[in-house]
Amino acid sequence: MRSSPDPIHGLTPLHALPSYLHADDLGPWGNYLQQVDRVIPHLGHLARWAETLKRPKRILIVDVPIQMDDGSVAHFEGYRVQHNVSRGPGKGGVRFHQDVTLSEVMALSAWMSIKNAAVNVPYGGAKGGIRVDPKKLSLGELERMTRRYTSEIGIIIGPNKDIPAPDVNTNEQIMAWMMDTYSMNTGTTTTGVVTGKPLDLGGSLGRREATGRGVFTVGQEAARRIGLEISGARVAIQGFGNVGGICGKLFAQAGARVVAVQDHGGTVYREAGLDVPALLSHVAENGSVAGFAACESLAADQFWDVECEILIPAALEQQITAANAGRIKARMVIEGANGPTTPAADDLLHERNILVVPDVIANAGGVTVSYFEWVQDFSSFFWDESDINQRLEKIMRDAFASVWTVAQDRQVSLRTATFIVACRRILHTRELRGLYP
Ligand code: GLU
Repeated sequence: MRSSPDPIHGLTPLHALPSYLHADDLGPWGNYLQQVDRVIPHLGHLARWAETLKRPKRILIVDVPIQMDDGSVAHFEGYRVQHNVSRGPGKGGVRFHQDVTLSEVMALSAWMSIKNAAVNVPYGGAKGGIRVDPKKLSLGELERMTRRYTSEIGIIIGPNKDIPAPDVNTNEQIMAWMMDTYSMNTGTTTTGVVTGKPLDLGGSLGRREATGRGVFTVGQEAARRIGLEISGARVAIQGFGNVGGICGKLFAQAGARVVAVQDHGGTVYREAGLDVPALLSHVAENGSVAGFAACESLAADQFWDVECEILIPAALEQQITAANAGRIKARMVIEGANGPTTPAADDLLHERNILVVPDVIANAGGVTVSYFEWVQDFSSFFWDESDINQRLEKIMRDAFASVWTVAQDRQVSLRTATFIVACRRILHTRELRGLYP
């Protein structure tokens, strides 16, 4: 006779993690697992289901072969990971970057689950990526790679299954190709299969600016609570693309001084504040902040010593580490990027009384307006930009307020508080749905 499972621990025993889930290299997935471990003591009876959070539901690795312009055939490595779909279809961006790995895409998919639950949009979490430097491809090669990748992951995406969106190095045009490829393959015109599309193809007003706007909104909320005036505050931003560029503009408009900006090409500094609109035009023309006039240029590493009140990492993962967290001068860090702070650095910042507004709430504005886009696509009724921005700001402010209260009540960091709110939502639906078969 089989022994009956332990009613409390029956789901978290005995079985070693699958090999690809081991966290021994402390890559992004390892960081995520440490973040989950911190939340488990706060989950009450739902801790029974916590193992769910440590195992992505579905991982697809695809070969993406394309014909290059010179007639040769190149193969790229593509991924789509659906971390969790308890609360709704998978949702999350697609990243094209030469350093994409499975560990990274897994972590990014898990952070999407947390983020979507934190702002309470009805999605699970997913993420995709191709290990490629897209700057080395011609436009034709980029299109062929995007289309082949979309065909390959076509077996698991769909407007009710998993909805990709832009992320690092992907944009509206790439979303248009993805929408078209999926539609051609299914004999439909399915705008709702991806978000972040061009406006004329079922895109939403305000989507492009939404992540940066959300960073600014939660930044305002957090600043108010620690008695920091935005007007006159010094801001340092790492990454000046769709997230850093937009929130930099909004902070400058609110009277902040954007004193330092770093991107892949260089680091620019001006104590009196950089001219943000001029810097944005410079980046649009030259692809980087490097070479901008009317400022000093700093060595990359000096960025972490810049005197500022607000530091906004808005580039890639694992930028704030135990090696540089001790040098940061800011009063608060607002994570525009996904996963920019390692758990060890998180602890150092906490000890130094520097408030960290975590990615899973700070940059949730993008997916929030993606949700609005998806709803508009389903109803074929499109909203005004002012409606969109008002709804976005309300969702961000309300979500931040809930997380702030949990952090105060439980005396935990904002990251752990956000994980508490989000994991409870995810695991509650997990429990309601039960196991099938
Ligand atoms: N890539 C964005 C993120 O990391 C947006 C994802 C989406 O809109 O689905 O949140």
